[in-house]
Amino acid sequence: MLPPNDPNRHNFSGGPGALPRSVLEQLQEAIGAVPEVGLSILGVSHRSDWFAAVVSELEANIRQLLGLPENYHVLFLQGGATQQFSMAPMTWLRGKKEAADYLQTGYWSSKAITEAAREGPLRVLWHGEAGGFRRLPQDEELEFNPAAPYLHYVSNETVEGLQFHRIIGRDDIPRICDMSSDFLSATGPFDKFSLIYAHAQKNLGPAGVTVVIIKDQLLQDAPRDRLPAFLDYHQQIAAHSILNTPPVFAIYTVLLVTRWLRDEIGGLAAMAEINAAKAAALYRLLDDHDDFYIPRAAKADRSTMNVVFNLQSRQREQAFLAAAEAAGFSGLGGHRSIGGIRASLYNGLERAAVDNLIDFMADFRRRSLA
Ligand SMILES: *Cc1c(COP(=O)(O)O)cnc(C)c1O
Repeated sequence: MLPPNDPNRHNFSGGPGALPRSVLEQLQEAIGAVPEVGLSILGVSHRSDWFAAVVSELEANIRQLLGLPENYHVLFLQGGATQQFSMAPMTWLRGKKEAADYLQTGYWSSKAITEAAREGPLRVLWHGEAGGFRRLPQDEELEFNPAAPYLHYVSNETVEGLQFHRIIGRDDIPRICDMSSDFLSATGPFDKFSLIYAHAQKNLGPAGVTVVIIKDQLLQDAPRDRLPAFLDYHQQIAAHSILNTPPVFAIYTVLLVTRWLRDEIGGLAAMAEINAAKAAALYRLLDDHDDFYIPRAAKADRSTMNVVFNLQSRQREQAFLAAAEAAGFSGLGGHRSIGGIRASLYNGLERAAVDNLIDFMADFRRRSLA
């Protein structure tokens, strides 16, 4: 059993992120032996009937949670979101004359653009870099190419703490979206997308597995037998995500997380409400004390998952991080590319942890100004 004052409870890391306590407890047991199997999860065959059932239940849970129609495929791949940065353009951009539309809204979309540019023509229809990635574009600022093979964007920029609170693009152009850091955190509609990918280690489990959701219509446009089997969506679908040895432990963890979401939380609408309340409480503290804590993102584009802010000086930020660590909080340092402070409020992080952080921050401010 985990200790009652389990330090995992105050893990605000940007990724790998906090996981629900009940999931960690089940994993602890599964390392010894999975109850239904009698063997350690680390030694269960990926060709066993038990693991085939894990994959199909996980697929069903994700379909149910997202409300996905029948014409979508659900895959569990390896290589992280980074592999999807390449795998999607290898499949749908290579050899094309017309450019795909990409939005550059932060650190991760910039990485996606670099990888896609190797594969085919693309057009960056929004450059957020000049503004320091402090806000997202408004609809009037976006002119989509009606002939683009697809539109790619990142729903939540994990590093800068920017999140789209609406779906962008046109219904007649396939939307491809990296949802790595806000997947399963709120409701859809998800059938507006043709491809969704999200690696596990932000909201769903440990690194090693990436959830990929593909609309059948887009799949039909994917060439066959041109790419290595591992990078071929058709072959991965035909193999039911078990083309080679899959990350059994990571996939099992994501299954436990989807059960937790369904049975303990009550689905995505309930999760969204909890997440919105957590974020609102922390942003309220920042806004109430904006003489001391300086929020990074424009108000309308603030992320519910990653709350990014600065203090007046690097020195004060260092003092903040040291005091936070001494008080039992971890993972609050900003991403190495921009520094500052980042509190990640993923699904597994409880409201009580946010309230404790808020108390600590109010107190730290008082002590610093005294
Ligand atoms: C963390 C992150 C990535 C990187 O994913 P890897 O699994 O490390 O390749 C990509 N996109 C977003 C939005 C992320 O938050």
